[in-house]
Amino acid sequence: MTKDAVNPKLRLSKEEMRQYGYKIIDHIVDHFETQNSKKPVTIATREEMDLLLTEAIPDQPTPANEVLDFVMDHVIPNSNIVSHPKSYSFVPGPSNYVSVMADTLATGFNIFSGGWAASPAAAELEIVTMNWLLKIFGFPTKKGGGIFTSGGSMANLTALVTARRIKCKDDFSKAIIYLSDQAHSSNIKAIKVIGFKKEQIRIIPTDIEFKISLNKLKNAIAKDRLEGLQPFCIIASAGTTNTGTVDPLDQIATICKNENLWMHVDGAYGGAAILANKGDLLLKGIEKADSLTVDPHKWFFQPYEIGCLLVKDHNWLSGTFTEKPEYLRDIEGNESEINFYDHGIQLTRRFRALKFYMSLKTFGLDSFKKAIQYTIDLAEQAETILRKSSNWEITSPATLAIINFRYHPIGFDLTEEELDCINQNISNKIIASREALLVTTVLQGQIVLRMCLINPRTTIEDIQDTLEKCETFAKEELTTLQKQLS
Ligand SMILES: *Cc1c(COP(=O)(O)O)cnc(C)c1O
Repeated sequence: MTKDAVNPKLRLSKEEMRQYGYKIIDHIVDHFETQNSKKPVTIATREEMDLLLTEAIPDQPTPANEVLDFVMDHVIPNSNIVSHPKSYSFVPGPSNYVSVMADTLATGFNIFSGGWAASPAAAELEIVTMNWLLKIFGFPTKKGGGIFTSGGSMANLTALVTARRIKCKDDFSKAIIYLSDQAHSSNIKAIKVIGFKKEQIRIIPTDIEFKISLNKLKNAIAKDRLEGLQPFCIIASAGTTNTGTVDPLDQIATICKNENLWMHVDGAYGGAAILANKGDLLLKGIEKADSLTVDPHKWFFQPYEIGCLLVKDHNWLSGTFTEKPEYLRDIEGNESEINFYDHGIQLTRRFRALKFYMSLKTFGLDSFKKAIQYTIDLAEQAETILRKSSNWEITSPATLAIINFRYHPIGFDLTEEELDCINQNISNKIIASREALLVTTVLQGQIVLRMCLINPRTTIEDIQDTLEKCETFAKEELTTLQKQLS
């Protein structure tokens, strides 16, 4: 491209496109090959990023390769590597190359995945993959349905809009919704988005294992009924983000049945564990949900963004989201030809089913099962290592690949504040070293370290290495404390 030539057709030549594309592929493949030797953590202030990236609107063209080089030098490296084996925090995004390429295809062909007529094959693949998921989770494949969303937050939102329409019709002024204090924040966000007041939300305490207290849940429902309110929905967690804990789904299903409540299961984190050995036991009762959120861009190893909502009856979605504007009348098709814009909030939708389809087909479900099992076992191995040490204490045992622990050495008389301080500083120092992404969470009032080990490329040696670094930092903290005391 000649410099300074305005390009109103927004086109590159065939050769330029190839060269540009191959270069990007090379960058991505290099990243997959070398990411383990990079540091997973990036630290940058707003000032630093302003200095690096702020610029006026570029009125004139810049050569494509120059822009790409700039991005590779300054933008891409200033992000955490969430697929790094030592990226333990939040929920990592292990991703996989086949899905990355599938996303490239979907975007390259700019496939509109809203209505049947625009792409019958995209709609059909969404139906096909949704049926796979329905089957995996024990939902009815004939009557059941679902939709891919941008992520778990949107899936939860879509579920609650649906639940409200089915259970409350038009008046939800007295409707009450129940969830535990360990439920994911996206649920509260969704409840607020759809216009519920704070007084309509019951946050039920959890027990010592971080499961919702059934007794307190039943008490709350009974009390609300006595006050003339309308209990309508329980959100159960199938794998809380903090500890991987699964609420007693079977018993919650019974309560929902007896009380005529909607049962939504937020399985955005832990749903994938259904593919592990005894997955049906781990997640017993999940099949009884009216709606279920799962999040393929977490433990199903997809790149961002893909979430998913499954429902027992696909008519619940179409009944909730169908609008019939005149400008869409020509693409409506017949009943069996699903327009996914009628099943959720978005009209224009990217072709998310493609990456799920291509990666599952390429690697096979058995590979996914083995990958998930490996990560569950890995967390248990980490627990064994920690339990053998006189310096570490387990706060929440390995559960669905999540483990919470803290530095608490035997033989030292440390206060809770001192322990909190030590563990916070371990995290601060490991982050500052950029060697591992390991942050804290708070459980039962204690600051603890949390590892979420869903990356099938993380090894036990990676974990040992990180724990050794943590111990070194912890000893520094102890020394500092002792100096302050003497
Ligand atoms: C991650 C998560 C969500 C939100 O999903 P996003 O894909 O981040 O929008 C909801 N619930 C749970 C339990 C999660 O772990």
